[in-house]
Amino acid sequence: MTPFEPVIGLEVHAQLKTDTKIFCGCSTRFGAPPNTHTCPVCLGMPGVLPMLNKKVVDYTIRMALATHCSVAPRSRFARKNYFYPDLPKGYQISQYELPIAEHGHIEIQIDGQDRRIGLTRIHMEEDAGKLVHDPDRPISRVDLNRTGVPLMEIVSDPDLRSAEEAGAYLRHLRAIVRWIDIGDGNMEEGSFRCDANVSIRPKGSEVLGTRTEIKNLNSFRNVEKAIRYEIARQTEILLGGGAVVQETRLWDPDKGSTFSMRGKEEAHDYRYFPDPDLLPLVIDEAWVEQVRCELPELPDKRRARFVQAYRLPETDAGVLTASRELADYFETCLKGFNQPKMVANWVMGSLLALLNAEDKSIEQSPISADDLAGLLRLIDEGTISGKIAKTVFDEMAAAGKTAKQIVREKGWVQVSDGGAIEAVVDQVLAASPDEVARYRKGQVKLMGFFVGQVMKATKGKANPKIVNEILTKKLSEVH
Ligand code: ADP
Ligand code: MG
Ligand code: ZN
Repeated sequence: MTPFEPVIGLEVHAQLKTDTKIFCGCSTRFGAPPNTHTCPVCLGMPGVLPMLNKKVVDYTIRMALATHCSVAPRSRFARKNYFYPDLPKGYQISQYELPIAEHGHIEIQIDGQDRRIGLTRIHMEEDAGKLVHDPDRPISRVDLNRTGVPLMEIVSDPDLRSAEEAGAYLRHLRAIVRWIDIGDGNMEEGSFRCDANVSIRPKGSEVLGTRTEIKNLNSFRNVEKAIRYEIARQTEILLGGGAVVQETRLWDPDKGSTFSMRGKEEAHDYRYFPDPDLLPLVIDEAWVEQVRCELPELPDKRRARFVQAYRLPETDAGVLTASRELADYFETCLKGFNQPKMVANWVMGSLLALLNAEDKSIEQSPISADDLAGLLRLIDEGTISGKIAKTVFDEMAAAGKTAKQIVREKGWVQVSDGGAIEAVVDQVLAASPDEVARYRKGQVKLMGFFVGQVMKATKGKANPKIVNEILTKKLSEVH
């Protein structure tokens, strides 16, 4: 057992899904030829003036409301000064002392327990360009298409206590961004990026230890691995009597370790000051209310409603509200078949397994919600047996047909007609006089044998409940 407690805070940059950049009209579309989505404003020419994209503000207010932040009636843009070739102006327009939103939180579930993680702040800023390093010659090129693409930075309080919690927090944050439709949250493509601040301290201590900041984390797996590595590294240093150096470290996914990049810069190194080209941003109550009206029902609310209205277990409700599309699918299915627990089981079981195996999202599901409801109705009405239903499901996915069509084509309709089953039962009993005699002498276990014979004779289509009833009746008749 280690005597230390890890403390983690995350800084997340999420690209906002606007058509145009934050301070000019250039397109944000990904994958255009280098430097074609640029203009004097995002190229940082002297004398040009930035003009704020209202949609960026709308989207950030959406996030603020979805994470219980308070929206500042007055915030400011600030210049963060540093030199790098991907930043033609020599400064990045960001927000500093007066961010647009502060003091929020989100709830994550860890080991079946709710944990509230505080959000320190959310602010808006512009992205920088991209350096393209030539593999053959010692030169680099710069592509400024990404310069000025809108970002939202979400800073957490140092509330996370393990790599797993950091992962859960990050996933939940991404789910919200997607749910409220302001970003695509793709870590691998860089539209959702994360820096992790990690420190450790003696258990029970209230004082924060010295932290390192880890960059270059481009997948959820890497975030968790890097944090685990960093906790172990710091633990070893402290146990050996050393001290952790405050610095920025880079994660090397191939080596599975972090290495020092530079000493940690301090805020004063950036010479922040209010951007004189942009007016203070004033957001009145009406604007906030306008955005609030446009918000969909949020994930936490919807999860609680699923538990309440449909009597679903918490875990089911959690799985079904992992994305808005999945929750919509579930509720559409309910419209066609109103048994929530049975729908939940099929969606979380067969359907999610199918999507997983085919690496598809719920929007790409080969079986529509209406068609799944159709299948469940056939089971419920007794048209098909529960046993054959999974086969019908697989056929539906493969052939793109409805359950009804498949059952009709294959002749899989369950036989519930008592007369037809009785005829088969009579045949089976007549063909097995020995077993019948032994059963009547008390070997009641033979019931399974008789049921099996009837099912075999009907190719699995006989309604097992009715088969049982008829067999029981016939076998108990006195001869
Ligand atoms: P910056 O990294 O830009 O200097 P902050 O000092 O505000 O910004 O901290 C950024 C992140 O680091 C926040 O998520 C915060 O919770 C986290 N953090 C701050 N101090 C510590 C610490 N001692 N251990 C772990 N995380 C910390
Ligand atoms: Mg930082
Ligand atoms: Zn531009």
